[in-house]
Amino acid sequence: MIRDCLVLLCWLCTVNGKIGYFWHITDIHYDPRYSTHGNTGSMCWNTRSNIDSGRIRSDQRPPGMFGEYNCHSPWALIESAAQAMRAKHGEGIEFVLWTGDALSHTAGMSEELRIQSLKNLTDLLSHTFTGQFIFPALGHEDTGVNFTQIAHLWRHWLPNEALVTFKKTGFYTIEQRSENYHIIFLNTNLWLSTSSIIDNRVPQRNGGQVIDHSADPSGQWTWLENNLRKARIKAETVYIVGHTPPGVYEREGGASALHEKHNKRYIRLVRQYSDIIRGQFFGHWHSDTFRVIYSDTGVPVSWMMMAPSLTPSSPGGPNNPGLRLYKFETNTGQVLDYKQFYLNLPDANSAGKANWITEYSMLAHYDLKEITALSLHDLADRFTQSSDSAFVRYYAANTVSLPREVEEIWGCGGALNGACALRHYCAVTRLNPDSYRDCLSSYADALASVGSQRVSPLHYVPYLLTTWLACR
Ligand SMILES: [Zn+2]
Ligand SMILES: [Zn+2]
Repeated sequence: MIRDCLVLLCWLCTVNGKIGYFWHITDIHYDPRYSTHGNTGSMCWNTRSNIDSGRIRSDQRPPGMFGEYNCHSPWALIESAAQAMRAKHGEGIEFVLWTGDALSHTAGMSEELRIQSLKNLTDLLSHTFTGQFIFPALGHEDTGVNFTQIAHLWRHWLPNEALVTFKKTGFYTIEQRSENYHIIFLNTNLWLSTSSIIDNRVPQRNGGQVIDHSADPSGQWTWLENNLRKARIKAETVYIVGHTPPGVYEREGGASALHEKHNKRYIRLVRQYSDIIRGQFFGHWHSDTFRVIYSDTGVPVSWMMMAPSLTPSSPGGPNNPGLRLYKFETNTGQVLDYKQFYLNLPDANSAGKANWITEYSMLAHYDLKEITALSLHDLADRFTQSSDSAFVRYYAANTVSLPREVEEIWGCGGALNGACALRHYCAVTRLNPDSYRDCLSSYADALASVGSQRVSPLHYVPYLLTTWLACR
């Protein structure tokens, strides 16, 4: 009888799957030089030129304790984020994804200060999640420290075989042996296009290695393809995690951040293995957005999520600090939903207290039944429909609920038109820069054709302006 019950329970486990959670934290951009005695016009640093006879000049507002929209993260912001993660969901977490740009080249740190800052961040996260593993991926701002030093800092999180690979190349894989999925962590620095780094600061070295322009830098392609092949043979599912995503930036689209040859190869590979890839998680853009990947015949086959940054600053326009909690089925890796948390920065600074709150939940926010390539494709399509508020909702999330007066300076709010909505739609659905440009120009054609009644799926876009204004 007991055995029968156990069999039944196991069967139920297999059918329904165990529900698990993981945090995704990205782009911390810790700036140890941030000072509330600095000035907002100069990275919030307390430099000699900002100080007039020992006092801050009267025309310069001192930076807030939790950060400023044009400066990178102070320690107080990072600490508040760690506390929020522990308070909101510190227990029962399967793991934490930490997708890079922990540091910032703009802070001009020495190698010693960089390693010390990484150590401080590592310690903070270790104390926040004592019983869980944190899996980090390298960002382009985390360079200037060699992989062996970083591996030493992260030795308590990564298993031995992962450490061995990481020390040589900066990438690694985590096998969840008790489950049926594994996580592949890319070193996207190996595939960067040197001309399209978001802040125009081109890293010359990857953790002590000069950038490799060969077809397969550090053998990452061979390694990735082998891992995907093996996973398929073993009937395992896979997450792919990295810092810089393929595709174009939805706020200033045009070029891909990855070198075009690597961008193309990545999309090809995802198409090929879309049956076993359950999710792709990246950072880098600092905005909250997603991408849909299509098969050669135009069927949506895979998706990618970009969580917003912890830092409020980005050259493409600021955002409020964000943290994301995913809910998934642990035996298959199937992502069920996520909850986006955020900090209203001006409120936190004026209250002197960081009140992290839920911004939205994916399914409820977009009225979705599930997270699949098809449902995200449908969502993107809704961006172009006059009767749907999906784009308005997406756009608020994209800036992490930035106050309207700040958003108007930077984003769609300032020059609100259908072209802005279309830029997002095309970036979400076209990861290849050529197809992205075709998508944009088809919009121009569609606009021109509205008068002649030619039917085009994008002919609704001009109406977005009216919808947007009605919803605001
Ligand atoms: Zn980045
Ligand atoms: Zn970044």
